[in-house]
Amino acid sequence: MSLLAYFGVLRKKLLYKTKVEYGDYALNHYEGCQHGCKYCYARLIKKKPYQVWVKARPVANAISLLKKELPVLRNEIKEVYLCFSCDPYMPLERKTQLTQRIIKILMENDVAFSILTKSDLVLRDLNLLSNYDKCRVGFTITTLNDNVRKFWEPYAPSIEDRIRAVKTFHDYGVETWISVEPILDNTYIDLIYKLQDYVNQFVFGKLNYMKSNLNWRKVAEKIVETCKELGLNFILKKELANHLTKCPGDYVKL
Ligand code: SF4
Repeated sequence: MSLLAYFGVLRKKLLYKTKVEYGDYALNHYEGCQHGCKYCYARLIKKKPYQVWVKARPVANAISLLKKELPVLRNEIKEVYLCFSCDPYMPLERKTQLTQRIIKILMENDVAFSILTKSDLVLRDLNLLSNYDKCRVGFTITTLNDNVRKFWEPYAPSIEDRIRAVKTFHDYGVETWISVEPILDNTYIDLIYKLQDYVNQFVFGKLNYMKSNLNWRKVAEKIVETCKELGLNFILKKELANHLTKCPGDYVKL
């Protein structure tokens, strides 16, 4: 038995149709997440204690499941998201290289995919990703203040490292997007200005299930006003758009 199989978990299914409104199919090839964000919704849904969640493990049969499921779903899939319930470039990825193996299989099968990560470790796969025109690389950036980041996302890379990585992918001609979810403080407008030249799309979402001092109606209005003025491609997650008094549905999908 390989080390990966020994330390990993086994699943029955890998690809699934996501309920995230802007997504299509998704997969999560790690169980838990070493980034340990305090607001993590995936941990909440799975009802895992924090200390268990941060001891992430790979899905040991992820590759065989993917090879089995892709031929069946290939024609139906518009884009596969990696990942909504773990981070594909958490530190464990350095050892397992499981994300890299998965994206190679998606490429061999000519399937479009989109990365969503908080880690500049994705730069390791820059050559691979920049030579495939059916992929997008997304970074979650929830604040520009690294002290706020340290509190909420204690084991994830710094904001500076993420911004550097976004710019590098952009410079290499890769389509990039930013998930500003959950918005943690008042830096979201500065963030738009700072990244607008390097990003193809912004997605904004509120902090759900936890207290925030932000006035979500004002936040949503300011985002819409700024993005429209700058001519940016953006969407608001439903929970945030619902705070708008005029036409919230207009901003939920592109
Ligand atoms: S990176 Fe995503 S999955 Fe990982 S702990 Fe943070 S919110 Fe949860």
